[in-house]
Amino acid sequence: AASIPVAQVLKALMGMGIMANINAELEFETAEIVAAELDLELQLKETETLEDELITELDEQADDPDSLKPRPPIVTFLGHVDHGKTSLLDHLIGINVVSGEAGGITQHIRAYEIDKDGNSITFVDTPGHEAFTEMRARGANVTDIAVLVIAADDGIMPQTEEAISHAKAAEVPIVVALNKIDLEGVDANRVLTQLTEHQLTPSEWGGDVEVVRTSAIKGTGMDELLETLLTIAELNEYKANPDRAAMGVCLEAEQQGDRGVVAKLVVRNGTLRVGDVMVCGPTYGRVRAMSDTLTGEPISEAGPSTPVSVMGLESPPGAGDRFHVLDDIADARAIAGSRADESSRQSLSGVTTKVSFENFQEMLQEGRLGQTEEKVKLNVIIRADVKGSLEAIDKELSKFDHPEVEIRVLQRSVGGITLADVTLASASDAVILGFNVIPDEQARSLADERNVEIRRYDVIYKLTDDIKAMVEGRLKPEE
Ligand code: GDP
Repeated sequence: AASIPVAQVLKALMGMGIMANINAELEFETAEIVAAELDLELQLKETETLEDELITELDEQADDPDSLKPRPPIVTFLGHVDHGKTSLLDHLIGINVVSGEAGGITQHIRAYEIDKDGNSITFVDTPGHEAFTEMRARGANVTDIAVLVIAADDGIMPQTEEAISHAKAAEVPIVVALNKIDLEGVDANRVLTQLTEHQLTPSEWGGDVEVVRTSAIKGTGMDELLETLLTIAELNEYKANPDRAAMGVCLEAEQQGDRGVVAKLVVRNGTLRVGDVMVCGPTYGRVRAMSDTLTGEPISEAGPSTPVSVMGLESPPGAGDRFHVLDDIADARAIAGSRADESSRQSLSGVTTKVSFENFQEMLQEGRLGQTEEKVKLNVIIRADVKGSLEAIDKELSKFDHPEVEIRVLQRSVGGITLADVTLASASDAVILGFNVIPDEQARSLADERNVEIRRYDVIYKLTDDIKAMVEGRLKPEE
């Protein structure tokens, strides 16, 4: 703890019109303002809550390898608008299930489990890569494989590029659905070339990215797409333990008149059953009924990777809130309650630490950055005014060669800094570098909220100098 003369603190408080004595307790909010005044970093003292104990225990409870069974892959569609995400999913559902969509929940994020020759695949269709990354930012990873949908006539478009960045940052396998292949005169090779330019070399050209030619209108390539996904699933051996208390993620939820709260969840591990008690984000409840997300038919249990509509929660949880099944409803209520308090406190203080130029070294030393490989990665997202600037920055960064640090460009694109950039940075611990561009209002406020660092430059060497200075600052002293 810092030692600051009490008088100085009291003086700062007086400056805010608060008369206090030495023993006064301060609201965190007030303390924060005082701290800012005195140029101090303030940290909330961690209190051992019920949540820490119970939920951490559940999260960390390792599954006995013998208890692990194969589970269906969870597949997410990403791509430029109008390239056919919705149509592809509709077609896939249509060929597998006769009845129409039911369940009555407003469809923002769709999630369905489909069957292919006795094997299941769960599809999650998010409204865009922002939603995809937003989930990841909240620690709610619900994707094993990303299907990148690219219309053969348009090829790779700006949002496709963003989707590629988001999928790469999530470090999941990417399968390309080269859609609208039925259109006259489309040139598949052109798109394959573009893919190669984005470091996604098609397997037919010797790379490791499967490209499936599809037509959502004619139904072309559907079997091949499903088979490709199942092959990848087999290679990756996705597994879970169906014999434990369920945990997973809420995709969306709403209050539905007399049905109460209907939440669409995906089970990540364990099996969820009617009658289970759960805590989900800042809410809790007992599962009163469950139904299939596609047919709306009642089901009594949902195993790993299964999407399910659940009734019985007290209030709608948020998209990306994680859920855990607990034994005791009193515990669930208590945890939900403390989280509800927590979230109101957090929104006051906005305490999430993200990587920044200043704290990079510190985080390195504390081992808070992913250090799985030999080099530590500094994730950056680059936005520039024109393509020429991007190329120049790329060229400079490619000269960067450091034995311990690797600069990993998650995304490089032309145009102002957007909300999606900030979401990606927040989910991936990245810093945003803007060259002759500014963030829009939404991006700016989210960056403030999430402590995402945005650095702006108008001279290229300043940008590269900054990176060098930051990295070199962490060089260990010579032995
Ligand atoms: P999304 O925005 O990516 O979900 O795209 P949609 O699924 O809404 O499709 C956009 C438009 O492209 C619609 O008019 C579809 O009918 C059309 N479309 C989608 N897939 C195909 C395809 O394989 N071939 C052709 N010709 N049109 C398609």
